[in-house]
Amino acid sequence: MRLSDDVKNISGVGEKTEKTLGKVGIYTMRDLLYYLPRTYADYSTIQKIKDMRLGESGLFEVTVFTPPKTRRVRKGMEITSFQVSDESAVVGVDIFNQVHIKKYIHQGDTLYIYGKLVVQMKKPLISGPVFFFKKPEDPFFPVYPLTAGLTQNMLRKFLKAALNGVQVQEPYSQAFLERFELPCVNTALSQVHFPRDMQSAMQARERIVFDELLVFCRMIELLNEEKLQDSEIVLAIEDTFIDQFVEKLAFSPTGAQRRIMGEIAADFAKSNYMNRLVQGDVGSGKTILAFFAMEAMRQNGYQSVMMAPTEILAEQHKKSAVKLFGEDAVSCITGSLTAKQRKAEEQRIAEGSAKVVIGTHALIYKEIKFHNLGLLITDEQHRFGVKQRAAISGSHDVHSLIMSATPIPRSLALVLYGKTDISIVDELPPGRLPIKTYLIRKNKYADMIGFVKREIENGRQAYIVCPLIEEGEMEEVRSAQEVYAEVQREYPGYELALLHGKLKGSEKQRIMQEFAEGKIKVLVSTTVIEVGVDVPNATVMAVQNAERFGLAQLHQLRGRVGRGNEQSYCFLVSSHQGAFERLKVMVDTNDGFEIAERDMQFRGTGDVFGTRQHGQGFNLVQDIRQLEKARKVLEIMRQDGVYRQEYEGVTKAASQKMQDRMLEIVLN
Ligand code: ADP
Ligand code: MG
Repeated sequence: MRLSDDVKNISGVGEKTEKTLGKVGIYTMRDLLYYLPRTYADYSTIQKIKDMRLGESGLFEVTVFTPPKTRRVRKGMEITSFQVSDESAVVGVDIFNQVHIKKYIHQGDTLYIYGKLVVQMKKPLISGPVFFFKKPEDPFFPVYPLTAGLTQNMLRKFLKAALNGVQVQEPYSQAFLERFELPCVNTALSQVHFPRDMQSAMQARERIVFDELLVFCRMIELLNEEKLQDSEIVLAIEDTFIDQFVEKLAFSPTGAQRRIMGEIAADFAKSNYMNRLVQGDVGSGKTILAFFAMEAMRQNGYQSVMMAPTEILAEQHKKSAVKLFGEDAVSCITGSLTAKQRKAEEQRIAEGSAKVVIGTHALIYKEIKFHNLGLLITDEQHRFGVKQRAAISGSHDVHSLIMSATPIPRSLALVLYGKTDISIVDELPPGRLPIKTYLIRKNKYADMIGFVKREIENGRQAYIVCPLIEEGEMEEVRSAQEVYAEVQREYPGYELALLHGKLKGSEKQRIMQEFAEGKIKVLVSTTVIEVGVDVPNATVMAVQNAERFGLAQLHQLRGRVGRGNEQSYCFLVSSHQGAFERLKVMVDTNDGFEIAERDMQFRGTGDVFGTRQHGQGFNLVQDIRQLEKARKVLEIMRQDGVYRQEYEGVTKAASQKMQDRMLEIVLN
């Protein structure tokens, strides 16, 4: 067998299993062999449940206490639950998507389960454990990320077969391996999956990660060497242009905004296309920078297009653009235009009378015929899908401005967008008070409801965000409908609204419009309002079931308030103790960069190349030392002729990666 062979070639992998493996990104033998364990389980000692601390993992010998019962939580998510005891304590066990186990597990059976102890609804629980009917023989076991229909044992069986059947070619010479203290690739692969002990498992993983990082570092070098595209759109911008623009604004720009306007203006006057990433925390005032760039284009007779990830955001941008540029200069293309309306808009764009184009679909600039497009702006870039991003970054014949609230290290930005300059909006508009954030458990919920009431009585507005629209989609999660009904009971006499993605475009627009005008006081919503929405009079953001959201997403949500000069508040409602530590980060800081960093620590950054789906591969936080090593080794390879062959191999792999630059960034 060869590395490129289909996994089908392994005996025991039929059509169904092939599909299941596909779900975790395993198609070929290579994918399988490089499917790295999420962690290693320590089976060397049997623990007592009572001695475990929350969040710790261990192996337990237990007796099944109650017969297993399965409940369907939502489509594709079925949980089988039962109670177990080990003399020291009784705990619940939840097993995901393995309905068939009901047949094998009976009351009174002895089981060996390996898992993490958490608390859910105040009760101790072992959630998603690995389990065995016999005491595991090996003291260390890899634990792989799974999906429905895939078990640890299946993966082990397939991996054993793959390791026996495939011999991987070692790209490095013996001398190279010795000098840099690396195990050979076949040893690494077999030890990462079937380790002798923890140490060899770690060494094996390091070798595999090292290979990936070496290519990554070389790719960054190649990208840095890439020649910039000559620009055919060179603008003549006068010194007074920035001042003229600033005069039209309702506020005076911050130092950071002014500086970046200068950078953009200078880019436009150069003989290469601009490729600039503007990074700034939520509320730092990025929109105005986009409008500045669009105005420069307009004054020079060029069109520009700005793409937004949601219709609500596109509509909001359109409204601000009309104020600045006038109705006639602006066109907005979203999914809710009728065919006739769309045609009319396309006509205005093709003729060139619409200079400022705003749209929702990422590929709009490719589908629509422009008169003379000079600039492509992507707002909230991190919200676009992988393919859309690839298509965006693949455009080279116009200037490009990317705006993102997600901090990305320069090296990653380079991989994602090619040669990129980065501007950081490192200053908030004046007068902003830091948002006060509170974790709301059950006993404080009524206080929060009362607090929000006082805020609306004082003329302020509030968002209440829920993870789901309808009831019953998931147990233990409050739906937007349910919360809306509650809000109607609690705040009689006030205008309230329920907003979610299933509403018609025109209905969404009406609600947002009325909320922006201050007519609607409380907006109960799903995460459709997550990005970009700007209503400065809103001072409260309450997030229901906050444990369901990632930190980066919560930070985005919180960014919907604190946009004016009033004190704003964010309430994170949760009774999920397991999430408190994570949610506490939000209480502790308002700094998006810090939150992103903490988020990475909680989740891991996953695979930077994005060729695999389930977050293995290297992790920029964890593997920072390896990255340093890869950098140093690359430098030695370049200088020392002995390693020419290895250097060429790495270079080839790196250019290959560049060619299929279909990258998913892991930080979003
Ligand atoms: P984001 O960076 O999240 O896209 P926005 O561009 O939406 O932020 O700006 C947030 C709010 O701050 C808007 O209401 C905007 O009008 C306002 N704003 C932006 N810059 C300034 C400034 N220099 N002074 C006062 N308000 C500003
Ligand atoms: Mg924005």
